[in-house]
Amino acid sequence: MANPRMSDDELTTARQILNEVRNGISETTKGDQKFGFALRRYVYKKLSYDERGSPAHRAKLKKLKLIEQKGQCAYHRCPVPGKKLSKDDEPELDRRDAIKGYTSENTEIVHHGCHRQSQVDKGFQ
Ligand SMILES: [Zn+2]
Repeated sequence: MANPRMSDDELTTARQILNEVRNGISETTKGDQKFGFALRRYVYKKLSYDERGSPAHRAKLKKLKLIEQKGQCAYHRCPVPGKKLSKDDEPELDRRDAIKGYTSENTEIVHHGCHRQSQVDKGFQ
C-alpha cells in the first residue's frame, strides 16, 4: 500500500506547522548556528521516533521477529528462502502497512535485498 497523500487543505496546514517550527527554532536560537543545528536534529529525531519508534524499540522487535520466524525471511519471493537471517544479512523489519507502525502484528523480518524488492512491489522506491 502506497503512503497516503495529503489533501490541499492538509498540505496547507502541514506547511503552516513547518513554518511555525522553523520560526520557533529561529527565534529560540537567535542565530546561534551550533544550537540551531542541535535543535533541528533533536526535533527531526523525535518526530521520526513518533512514526518509527526508538532504535531500542525496533531492535527489540527485530529480535522477537527473528525468533518468531525461526530466522527465516518472510518475503514471499525470497530468492534464498532457505538462507537463515543473521546480522551479516542485514535483516530488516518490513511493515505490512506503513501507517500502522512497527508493531509485532504489522511487521515481518526479511533480508535487506528482499526488503528493497518488497518496497518496489508496494509502490515505494
Ligand atoms: Zn529473503
